[in-house]
Amino acid sequence: MNQSAGFGTRAIHAGQSPDPTTGAIMTPVYMTSTYVQEAPGVIKGFDYSRTRNPTRSALERNLAGLEGGKHGLCFASGMAAINCVLNLLKAGDHVVAGNDLYGGTYRICTTLYAKFGVSFSFVDMSDLDGVRKAIQPNTRLVMTETPSNPLLRLTDLTALAKLCRERGVLSMCDNTFATPYLQNPLALGIDAVIHSTTKYLGGHSDVVGGALVVNDDDLAKQLAHFQNSVGGTPGPMDCFLVLRGTKTLHVRMDRHATNAIAIARDLEAHPRVKRVWYPGLPSHAQFALAQRQMRNGGGMVSFELDASVEDAKRVASSFRIFSLAESLGGVESLVDHPVTMTHGSIPREERRKAGFEDGLIRLSVGIEELADLRQDLADALAVL
Ligand SMILES: *Cc1c(COP(=O)(O)O)cnc(C)c1O
Repeated sequence: MNQSAGFGTRAIHAGQSPDPTTGAIMTPVYMTSTYVQEAPGVIKGFDYSRTRNPTRSALERNLAGLEGGKHGLCFASGMAAINCVLNLLKAGDHVVAGNDLYGGTYRICTTLYAKFGVSFSFVDMSDLDGVRKAIQPNTRLVMTETPSNPLLRLTDLTALAKLCRERGVLSMCDNTFATPYLQNPLALGIDAVIHSTTKYLGGHSDVVGGALVVNDDDLAKQLAHFQNSVGGTPGPMDCFLVLRGTKTLHVRMDRHATNAIAIARDLEAHPRVKRVWYPGLPSHAQFALAQRQMRNGGGMVSFELDASVEDAKRVASSFRIFSLAESLGGVESLVDHPVTMTHGSIPREERRKAGFEDGLIRLSVGIEELADLRQDLADALAVL
């Protein structure tokens, strides 16, 4: 598939062609661990499914096509993809990371890699001067997420990539919230993009997976070596599900964003809502950057209620269409009270320093009928 084809065309066709033996239009689920060899060492590109599997290869090519990158690598989870990048480090190395990273990323850094002698500085990625100051002579990697979670802060990826290039530091962006439809970090100069395909790429809350996309051949070779050595690879059925999901990514993301901005506007107009965070709203502190860097504001909306923890929990439990659940990015709407759910492991003082209060609620706005979602939100807020 030609890289210059439009996004929707690449979503459906990149990395896939009808099966040559049967003509099956969809990539088969190759449920096999091994492959017959014509003679010792003579293979048709596949010898063992940890190393390579045709269904996974199709997904890897598809995701590379969507991110506009040369090499895609798929994993059993987003965390396994992040771990693969962290495998590049050795004792004595230093990493600069965002201070509002996905909780699991913070945990793998602080409880696993710290033990092996890798040190970390967690900084506000929206402040490039702060990032510059945090880079040390032994810094090898800068990790960011944009939009971040749960406050939907943005990183200026072009500026961050330039800074990292100047300092000879590898840059990585977790593009899970934006998806390749909204922004392509590689095109802005970032070295490695990771995804939790569990979220928007899969899109139907029925699979856990991860992916990594890079342009540099040597970097890809190293990462593929870790992928094969460590083995956190996805099974063919999981790859098939993600491959089915990416075919409708562009259609879903447009609808997620149309619904989300309407919900965000309703929230802004509500008397009991103190603040709303949505990158597609002019009230977002980095609206200009969002306009420049993202195709639309995405499907995630966070807001702070003028209410106690108990009242916030009551509101979060009062929706009928939005389901009270962690995770995000599926076709169905979800509501999260970060303080007691997704971000409960962060001490209260740390949370408040990072800027989120007890009344914070995060919505993953789905693609249901907008009128029903708006009514559900109004009814839930009415319990206050
Ligand atoms: C969910 C998520 C991850 C982790 O992915 P898993 O598939 O759950 O391992 C990493 N980063 C972000 C931004 C996420 O939302």
